[in-house]
Amino acid sequence: MDHKPSRFPLHFQILIALVLGTVLGLLFNSGSTKLPDSEVTVTASPDGKIAVAEMRGEVNIDTQNYKDTKSAELALADLKSTFESLQPQTPTTLNVVNRTATFLLKGDGAEVTYIRDYSPKDKPEIRQRVLTTKSFSERNALVETFPELAPSFDAARSGLGQYIVSFAKFLGDIFLRLLKMVTVPLIATSLISGMAGLGQSHSFGKMFGYTLFYYATTSMLAITTGIIMVNIFNPGVGVTLPGGGSAVVQENANTLTSILINLIESMIPTNPIASLANGDFLSIITFSILIGMMIATIGGDLGTRLATFFTDLFEVMMRLTMLIIALAPVGVLGLMLYATATQGLSIFLTLGWYMLTVVCALSIHAFVVLPLIVHFFSRHNPFEYLKALSPALMTAFSTASSNATLPLTMNCVENRAGISNKVSSFVLPLGATINMDGTALYEAVAVLFIAQATPGFEMTLSAQILVAVTALLASVGAAGIPHAGLVMMAIVLQAVGLPMESQGIILAVDRILDMARTTVNVWSDSCGCAVVESISGTAPASPDPEPQSSSSSGILS
Ligand code: ASP
Repeated sequence: MDHKPSRFPLHFQILIALVLGTVLGLLFNSGSTKLPDSEVTVTASPDGKIAVAEMRGEVNIDTQNYKDTKSAELALADLKSTFESLQPQTPTTLNVVNRTATFLLKGDGAEVTYIRDYSPKDKPEIRQRVLTTKSFSERNALVETFPELAPSFDAARSGLGQYIVSFAKFLGDIFLRLLKMVTVPLIATSLISGMAGLGQSHSFGKMFGYTLFYYATTSMLAITTGIIMVNIFNPGVGVTLPGGGSAVVQENANTLTSILINLIESMIPTNPIASLANGDFLSIITFSILIGMMIATIGGDLGTRLATFFTDLFEVMMRLTMLIIALAPVGVLGLMLYATATQGLSIFLTLGWYMLTVVCALSIHAFVVLPLIVHFFSRHNPFEYLKALSPALMTAFSTASSNATLPLTMNCVENRAGISNKVSSFVLPLGATINMDGTALYEAVAVLFIAQATPGFEMTLSAQILVAVTALLASVGAAGIPHAGLVMMAIVLQAVGLPMESQGIILAVDRILDMARTTVNVWSDSCGCAVVESISGTAPASPDPEPQSSSSSGILS
């Protein structure tokens, strides 16, 4: 198979696709409409609980419950005078200024984000509060609650934009399917041939130790950066979360012990074939490592034959991967277009400070901490290394999945950065599953943000340490798929006794933050390869890495 080196390097092609996809997506983003005034009803129950309900005609848009007058007052400073005159069980009604509903087309219906602008009593500044995000499965249901949205909804539905967005989604999905198709065979053959080539098991032990040490150290550094940034930016102060105020811990099956037990159990497959079929990364990793080691221990003719077989098979899988990677610009364009066209933009205003905190913290980790580690503990120049990895990093950004990006990461690390397969075949698949610096950092920032926004919640130093430790475990337990980090956040919230429902609001911006943290996850795994290779003594003698695999062709130039 001969690929002509393309005139335009792959990383530029992907970059252009990324920017173009974003711009087109923004162009096709669905609309927003100002709504006429409506009423807010405040009711106190005899036990001191406060319910604030926002009504549109007969329809209740949103109800928030607060455990007492104080937490309701804190959350709704503009309604303070109302609380003072509140009589139990006598609803008080008042008008509120300016509401905006933003909708996004989803299937036959839409998702509406409903935002209220308000100015706190005696203060001129206008603040925003996202009241709710509601999904409507079809047009009628939407129009019943928000008749004002009908014209812009119909216009958006019938426009060319919808076809383009659907087609973009289709292209993105095809790219993801192709990537997923090669992932399992690539991990298995890569690990088996890598381990078989490693020879004696003591060099594996050394590599294993260094790798785990690297994972744990960088994740903790990421979390520390996140915690420092939240304490500097204070993004949650003055923000109101839907359902905030009720610091009630809900039952959740994901306890810390169950995560650890699950983790260990999923490392030992009862049926390796089923694990391969299901794509259970941890099981596949253990089984492949063991098979590779056994091939190395058997040695002799049989060992060599088997090792050669798996190495050849791995070469074939790499070839196939490269072919798929050539489609990355198209896939990235589709994924970016779809992602931006289906993101509620107005919510970014409300959560802007929070998002900025996450992005700044991730940037410090990605552009300062990890490059310094690469500089001091590997033979690579961090800038060159970043450039070599850029196709994988941009794909991670647009797919928001470490798992889906894995074939590209392996390819870039080996063929563009010149890391040996022995190291990358081990560090990358394991890293995609358990080393998630970006996710760990995000968990810490998001939970501290929720804590700041929860009235009456004290975040002590010991609670922050608890957040750090649980965030690390949550990141280890999170799968390398979109939104996995958000699901695992329940554990961290539970550990410090914060309400789960507060997650509701950050869900609205999770996709974009997921894209950013996944990029950091993949970048950290890749830096891990450079570091482990150097400190475990597996690095080749030449200081300047040359693309080494026979499968390195023009595609990845
Ligand atoms: N999407 C992330 C990943 O694949 C995990 C997360 O949700 O944080 O690495």
